[in-house]
Amino acid sequence: MGQRVVAVIGVGPRGLSVLERLVTRLRERPPDDEVTVWAFDAVGHGDGRVWRADQPPWFAANTTAGESTMCAPGAGCLPVRRLGTMAGWGGLAVGAYPSRRHYGQYLAEVFATLCACGPPNVRVRPVRAEVTRITRTPRGLRLVAGGNAYLVDKVVLATGHGATEPDEAQLALLRHADGHGLRYVPPGLATEMPLDELRPGAEVAVRGLGLTFYDVTRAVTLGRGGRFRTCREGLRYVPSGDEPRLLALSRGGVPFLARPAVPDFPVPPVRLRVVTEERLAALRETALAATGTPQLDFARRVEPLIQFEADLACSTGAAHPLAGLARPFRDRFFAGPDDYRACLARLLREDARRAEAGCVDGTVKAATEMLRAIRPLLPLVVDFGGLLPGSHRDFLSRFVPESFVLSAGPPASHVAQLAALIDAGVVRPVGPAGRVEAGADGFVVSSPQVGGSRRVAEALVDARAPARNLARDASPLVKQLLADGMISEFVNVDPVTGDRFATGGLAVTPAPYRVIDGRGRADPDIHALGVATNHTRWFTEVGTGRPGQDSPFFRDADAVAAALLEPR
Ligand SMILES: Cc1cc2nc3c(=O)[nH]c(=O)nc-3n(C[C@H](O)[C@H](O)[C@H](O)COP(=O)(O)OP(=O)(O)OC[C@H]3O[C@@H](n4cnc5c(N)ncnc54)[C@H](O)[C@@H]3O)c2cc1C
Repeated sequence: MGQRVVAVIGVGPRGLSVLERLVTRLRERPPDDEVTVWAFDAVGHGDGRVWRADQPPWFAANTTAGESTMCAPGAGCLPVRRLGTMAGWGGLAVGAYPSRRHYGQYLAEVFATLCACGPPNVRVRPVRAEVTRITRTPRGLRLVAGGNAYLVDKVVLATGHGATEPDEAQLALLRHADGHGLRYVPPGLATEMPLDELRPGAEVAVRGLGLTFYDVTRAVTLGRGGRFRTCREGLRYVPSGDEPRLLALSRGGVPFLARPAVPDFPVPPVRLRVVTEERLAALRETALAATGTPQLDFARRVEPLIQFEADLACSTGAAHPLAGLARPFRDRFFAGPDDYRACLARLLREDARRAEAGCVDGTVKAATEMLRAIRPLLPLVVDFGGLLPGSHRDFLSRFVPESFVLSAGPPASHVAQLAALIDAGVVRPVGPAGRVEAGADGFVVSSPQVGGSRRVAEALVDARAPARNLARDASPLVKQLLADGMISEFVNVDPVTGDRFATGGLAVTPAPYRVIDGRGRADPDIHALGVATNHTRWFTEVGTGRPGQDSPFFRDADAVAAALLEPR
């Protein structure tokens, strides 16, 4: 192979995983196979934007220390091996949830180790700058970052959670807020939101009850001097007096529920009896024979299997369809806000109690943990247009949000704390099917299922996860690549009917994930992995591999690293 220059753009967990695989593979290569890696990150190397090591301590990971590692399985991962898992490195219990900044410190040390301990034939050169442009020249790819130009042979885009430009509805809210002395905070990372500007005592609407909602809540309570205290009656919130009042709302009216405690690692695997690789492959063959396309209807063909698996996991399963667990208030009406809030606080306390007991066989938490266990299998049916276009849209807009309520939540302690914040009146959930309208006096929130729920807020924080949308990506680099036809959006097309779903995701080939240009050709020199490729693939928001286990996280990185070293 000789000499090669590679650029890794974005050194969060995904970019880091490619570097680790590259360094490890180069140890086994002849010494005259030399690689220089320009490692670009605009924020920090290793920790990057999500795990930045300087964020406040109340932002926590929702994966445990024992499960989190950058150490790939097998004998190859020598430089990083001594760091082990986050638990060993950080002196934490395996079931503890590290703060995000603590995990960021681990990731930064992984990066430093790769720079310092790589074999002599690899040089990793960090650049703290945003790459704003890539163009093709006769001598290779030319990158611009921080006012300098770099010439490289290959590029890996691991740009992660990019910012998205506001859509029409969000622009209207911004304009309304500007014109009426209000405040609208569009979707993004809570660490980057101007939450300090929310006035103590002000009523603030928060839309979305997922992980960003938990972050926002923690920032304006723990982050403003509030404390939780355990007393005889249970957990209590002791306010500092500086908190705003959060009018919280979402479609279902239920926040993400708690993840069952993980006392040890490896976690005893959830035994999958119905949703298996073989059965999913058989579904595809049946679909091809019946319809002429291997694309599947997820709701009709796959979801019943998942429900059956849940019923087997939970002995009382028949009474608990998963959709009902995620949306327990779908058909319920409440006389007033106090009734709804008391009901929700009870539900959250019960959920935290169940989660603290762990993933006990036969319980609801065993069924919801199953949803995590099937995550590595679902890409087999979803990725690269595996679903019919309409079904793909439904999967992303209905199945995924509902399954995340049940299986992507925070630790039990955070759910119990949320119940205490509701008791204390700091968090005031509005109700199911919550609505926000822009009124002259403020943002009017209400729920059609809760009598007297209408309130007027002086600020609205959008805590929903920003949807992947290449066309609205705010990054100068993505804009330029798209405008120059060097990348393209993944459009899922049914070959039989011609039905289409423009997914908003960055189009890539199967491994090693070469980007597909505007004319439909795979680029031999540019790879993309991680969140940037969401919607073409599913569930790429993974920031860690499993200790000692093969996982899509390591497999993706290894496939890209191997391709970077291919002969020209
Ligand atoms: C708030 C939040 C909490 C999360 N918590 C967890 C958790 O607890 N556990 C878990 O497993 N996952 C969690 N996730 C999911 C998350 O997707 C992954 O953990 C992980 O961060 C994804 O890694 P990544 O490398 O793909 O993206 P990122 O971590 O987003 O890293 C991408 C990097 O690319 C850089 N970058 C982007 N564009 C450019 C450019 N043009 N030039 C230079 N640099 C650039 C950015 O600065 C950034 O550092 C969380 C996500 C968020 C947003």
